[in-house]
Amino acid sequence: MAGAFEPILTAGIGRMALERIEVYESQGGYEALRKAVRQMTPQAVQKEVTDSNLRGRGGAGFPTGRKWSFLPDDGRPRYLVCNADESEPGTFKDRLLLERNPHLVIEGIMLAGYAIGAARAFVYLRGEFRQAYEVLQRALAEARRRSYVGDRVLGSDFSLEIVVHRGAGAYICGEETGLLSSLQGGRGEPRLKPPFPATAGLYGQPTVVNNVETLACVPSIVSRGARWFASIGSPKSPGPKIFSVSGRVRRPGNYELPLGTPLREILFEHAGGLEPGRRIKAVQPGGGSSAILTEAHLDVAMDFDSVAQAGSMLGSAGVIVLDDRDCIVEAAQVLAEFYAHESCGQCTPCREGLHWAARVLRRIVAGGGRPEDIEVLQSLPSRIAGRTICPLADAGVGFLSSSLKYFVDEYRAHVTLGRCVREAYVA
Ligand code: NAD
Ligand code: SF4
Repeated sequence: MAGAFEPILTAGIGRMALERIEVYESQGGYEALRKAVRQMTPQAVQKEVTDSNLRGRGGAGFPTGRKWSFLPDDGRPRYLVCNADESEPGTFKDRLLLERNPHLVIEGIMLAGYAIGAARAFVYLRGEFRQAYEVLQRALAEARRRSYVGDRVLGSDFSLEIVVHRGAGAYICGEETGLLSSLQGGRGEPRLKPPFPATAGLYGQPTVVNNVETLACVPSIVSRGARWFASIGSPKSPGPKIFSVSGRVRRPGNYELPLGTPLREILFEHAGGLEPGRRIKAVQPGGGSSAILTEAHLDVAMDFDSVAQAGSMLGSAGVIVLDDRDCIVEAAQVLAEFYAHESCGQCTPCREGLHWAARVLRRIVAGGGRPEDIEVLQSLPSRIAGRTICPLADAGVGFLSSSLKYFVDEYRAHVTLGRCVREAYVA
């Protein structure tokens, strides 16, 4: 399957300077926008995206066309926000697109804005992405000069400005309601949904929040059609996907492949496999928030439904690989510290629970673990997950609960011996 696949989102990256508008145009860039504003109604663009079955690439996999269709038709201004606050551990695909193929993202934003009738579009960019910010600003200036962005796009009646807003380095601002609050100048604190941003988003108005990679899929859907897009990869999760692979592989990096490519193929054919003589201990298929899979799951198709059936989530498709040299308790500690640090503090189970998890794990790693620590750790996930405003708390215990499922003996040995045994105890 992957042999016949030609990259769509990353085509040309590394070979040509796509960030220059004339290079992007020479590859057919902005032709989809031209086609849309000259030959298609906004409803036709929306229908094409709905029919393509494009699903959100930020992590949740929600159908994009359906999300757009939730906007109420009540005359209020509508906003489009491109979520470029990529912060999920092990995920670096949006950064690649923003830095190396910015016009594809801009074209996707303009097409989505045209389809939903947006009054203004915003890019909420992760604060640390300084290079992406500069590249994007230069690309936007070029796109405005060529009438792809701004007033009366390509001489049509469609006008849309794009504003780039830089975040300040908080993971929680990637959560859409936290993002919208931050974009309005408030604290980056999530709120309960519903109401969803579709009905009460930016400034209380109907708002669509789409991920960078999701929007980058739209130009090819408009130019090549929904049927073509839907034919790529898994029928229920079609299209290209950029898998960010990191950890114990010989060629870490971003690999664009059809959704549904087997995990084994991604790791061993594309990412170079493991160092000689090493064995896979655990894989997080969907970034730091996802539950681990083990060697037994290597044949899982990497699409939203199949990974969920295997007991984890595709999420942002940040694939993190641990091998037999890695200590599962140390890895759990590193992630627990991250999520405890990034908790916004509104919900007690998240604010207190994640700190407790980190504290207990820190103690075990330092050699001072107590026998009862295992039961404490086992009881934490069910007391935290599903009891909070946003999914950060669930994310913070994803690795912990799944690693206790597969490697509880390693935790126990750590406590008993006061040190790591670095052996896999896969159940
Ligand atoms: P979600 O399932 O709550 O929502 C998905 C999207 O669909 C949202 O935009 C939501 O507004 C919309 N939606 C869902 N139901 C709706 C309805 N009935 N009406 C209107 N709109 C509706 O998921 P989420 O909390 O937005 O995202 C969670 C995911 O984010 C996780 O799976 C995680 O993998 C991912 N994540 C990604 C990053 C990253 O850097 N890419 C970071 C953290 C988390
Ligand atoms: Fe904040 Fe955590 Fe509650 Fe999310 S779950 S709102 S990050 S305290």
